[in-house]
Order: sequence, then structure tokens, then C-alpha cells
Amino acid sequence: MNREQQPPSYITPDWSVPDSVVALTTTRAGGCSEGAFASFNLALHVQDNPVAVTRNRRLLADRLAGDLTFQWLEQVHGTDVLPVSVAGPARRADAAFTTRRKLACCVLTADCLPVFFASNKGDAVAVAHAGWRGLAAGILERTLAEFPSPPDATAVWLGPAIGPCHFEVGAEVREEFLAAATGKLAEELAACFSEAPGTRKYLADLYGLARTRLHHRGVVSITGGGHCTFCQSEQFFSFRRQPETGRMASLIYLKT
Ligand SMILES: [Zn+2]
Repeated sequence: MNREQQPPSYITPDWSVPDSVVALTTTRAGGCSEGAFASFNLALHVQDNPVAVTRNRRLLADRLAGDLTFQWLEQVHGTDVLPVSVAGPARRADAAFTTRRKLACCVLTADCLPVFFASNKGDAVAVAHAGWRGLAAGILERTLAEFPSPPDATAVWLGPAIGPCHFEVGAEVREEFLAAATGKLAEELAACFSEAPGTRKYLADLYGLARTRLHHRGVVSITGGGHCTFCQSEQFFSFRRQPETGRMASLIYLKT
């Protein structure tokens, strides 16, 4: 079966939070985008046909809770966190959170790490877009600081991102992570970089960097990680694999 003929399929968290919380990352399956964007591209900013993207977004909405509204973000690898009480046009931020029902906070990725947050009580949710720049700048710490639930009462799930098998970075990236860290934190962050054979570069573990920084801020429950968007070409878009490509949507909402 062609990817376009498949129904959309999602990656969902393996976390234990109340059923009121719905979280997922879309895959390439389903949708009507063509070529490099085949087929379930949810991003309007990547030169895909906007008619196809709009249809894909409608298909996504139709398969989720009725009367769900969506808050999309204009992502800039920064650290701004948007509180959302009513969904509106895309706003410049790299994370969003809400305590309102049927309001989906959404980020778009193709290699960067989507990080999901849910209060243990199931009454607050957030999602953050964390590439290495945002991670190093503190997007996860900022999200935790704004989130209504304390870190030790918040569950986190790491959605699909580029794996340490393919995320090659220069020494300056490692330096940026280590610059402000000391002691055990610095050791744990350093362990997320291994020398890439035959180069002066490093292979970086985005999942490990996120986990380490979240643990350091008191988050106890962290699941997910382990996918590689570059390796798993049937399931995921990957910007490193193919610069012209679509984006998966990662979204989280309270259904009740
Ligand atoms: Zn890989």
C-alpha cells in the first residue's frame, strides 16, 4: 500500500498519566502531500502545497476529539513559552502549555526533539520543540518553570528525534552544553557526546541531553526516546536526510 493510501498512524507515549491526557506524534503515513513531502506533512512553512497541508491538518482534526482546537507555533529555536487559554493564529514560541480542555498545543519537527509534559493529576499539558540550540538555551527549564505542575509531579515523554547514530555536531555544540555546567551535571552531559570516528566531530544524543537536564531540574518520570528520524525513513521526515522535507506534528491536549 502506498503511504498516501494508509490511514494516519501515530507514535504515542508509554507513560502513566490519567486518561484525560492525549499525546501523539504523527508519522509520514496518510495524508495527501506529494514528492519530498509525502505524505502526511503538517507544516505550512516548507514549500509544500498549502492546499495539501490544509487537507492534512483537517484529516488530523477529524480523527481526534470533536471540537478540538489547535495552537501552532512559529518556532525559532528560542526559549519563549506560550501559555494558551484560547487557540489562535501561530505565535512565536518554542513551547506552549494549557490547562484548558480540548485545546491542542502543537509543535512541528523533523529531527528536533518534541518533549511532552503532563501533570500527574492530568490537569495541565505542554509540548516543547527542542533542537540542540533550544536545549542548550534552556527551553526545557523554561517550560518547567512556567508549567503549573511541579517537576516531581510532572511526567515527561520524549517523542521521535534524530538518534545518536546520525546526529553529528561540531565541537562547539559540545562546548556550549558544557560551558555552564559543573560537577556531576557536566559529567553526565559530556557522556551524551561520543567522538565520531575519523572526524573532528561528535555524535550527540539529544535524548540523553534532554533527560539529563530534566533530571537535574527534578523531573523523575521520563519515558520515550530510542527512535531515529534519519534511520526510520518510512515513518519519519528527517531534515538531515533530505533538506527539502515535511514535518511531523507533535500535539498534546486534555480531552476531559
Ligand atoms: Zn540514525
